[in-house]
Amino acid sequence: MLFHSTRNSEHRVGLSVAIAQGIAPDGGLYVPESLPTFSAQDFDGLTELADIAVKLIMPFAAGDAMADSLKDICHDAFNFPAPLVELHGTPGPASVLELFHGPTSAFKDFGARFLAASLERIRAANQSSRKLNILVATSGDTGGAVAAAFYRRPWVEVGVLYPKGLVSPRQAQQLACWGDNIRTLRVNGTFDECQRMVKEAFADVELRKTYELSSANSINVGRLLPQMVYYARSSLEIWRRTGKPANYIIPSGNLGNSMACIWVKAMGLPIGKIILATNANRTIADFLDSGEWRPRASIATLASAMDVGNPSNMERLRALYNFTQIKEQIAAVSVDDAAIRLRIKHDAQVLKQIWCPHTATAAEVYWHLPADQQTLHWVLVSTAHPAKFNDIVEPLINTAVPVPPALAKLLSLPQHQTDIEAQLPALKVQLQASV
Ligand SMILES: *Cc1c(COP(=O)(O)O)cnc(C)c1O
Repeated sequence: MLFHSTRNSEHRVGLSVAIAQGIAPDGGLYVPESLPTFSAQDFDGLTELADIAVKLIMPFAAGDAMADSLKDICHDAFNFPAPLVELHGTPGPASVLELFHGPTSAFKDFGARFLAASLERIRAANQSSRKLNILVATSGDTGGAVAAAFYRRPWVEVGVLYPKGLVSPRQAQQLACWGDNIRTLRVNGTFDECQRMVKEAFADVELRKTYELSSANSINVGRLLPQMVYYARSSLEIWRRTGKPANYIIPSGNLGNSMACIWVKAMGLPIGKIILATNANRTIADFLDSGEWRPRASIATLASAMDVGNPSNMERLRALYNFTQIKEQIAAVSVDDAAIRLRIKHDAQVLKQIWCPHTATAAEVYWHLPADQQTLHWVLVSTAHPAKFNDIVEPLINTAVPVPPALAKLLSLPQHQTDIEAQLPALKVQLQASV
């Protein structure tokens, strides 16, 4: 299988190259030339994420060196569960797909771990001896997941740039608790400035000569493919139990998570409706209403990991479907901060469920489904553990959110981080100090 750029279907590469490059040289996103198809029976006897992953992803690696190591990669990456937990007290059958059981308590652990495991094998296959330097700018969740996934892998150093004072206190701790081959840089600036510094570093002639630079960018196809796996596993579980398709409500920002679900549905897995829940950033909802694609600056909300005004994976969706088809495949509903707050309060009382602010957008969409749809089997996708956002959640529910063991461990570690100004020279000094 080959992958081509969304901006040029003539530019084709295999999976290893698509993952190692992250973004196509023309600035486009890599998409598979075609999607393989499966039936539910193809997965008979498979229940574990790692085993389903090998089967599901193998066609994408066909003809590439990664085919030989895919089994290893999947067992390295999928070392924590994504359980489907039944909800009680809902009008119809409903479950929560808990994607927060990884090392940093958010679904980004799946993509980051698969990317790290893949790059490790790709570099071994290519006999790369130069150290890789990964730079990542983060608004909160991505940086922690990437740090955890690459921690103590001896072939790589990671620089994590985050905006001082603009992430939750526990997110900050998850970014700074590493040391060793992870360099955490607390930037005196905004997320956009962190991102600009990373872009400038990639364009800097001197740095490019000295280092092999790479990004763990969220648009890397190596982060999307593993995200398909939990949709496959959970839809098969519901199909085997009920003979009916699963319908998903997905908290969405950059559309990476929902794009994986859309691909898996197109590949023939038993999936019915897909609804994207967004926060007050309405770009996608407005597009589905008007047919006009109008990206804009993002606005800050309680569900901050979804504060995206120009969702980059839309380029992948539009490479797959025209507007009429997109309208057939997905719906999108925007949820504002006031509704997020009320939903967290209400469902803690009535369902005994504590949502993170992102997951609360999906719950809000669920409760407003038309009555005739509430009899379908719905899956609310839970993208982060509420304890990660205790500063928002606890005042709303007036109780402490229990901290999962993985998060508790990171919260107990000492911090290793350096404060820097939001300028490229400050970043360069840090990079040079380490080698
Ligand atoms: C990143 C993130 C999202 C948004 O996912 P996309 O793939 O960008 O749509 C939602 N919730 C949480 C907790 C996240 O960290």
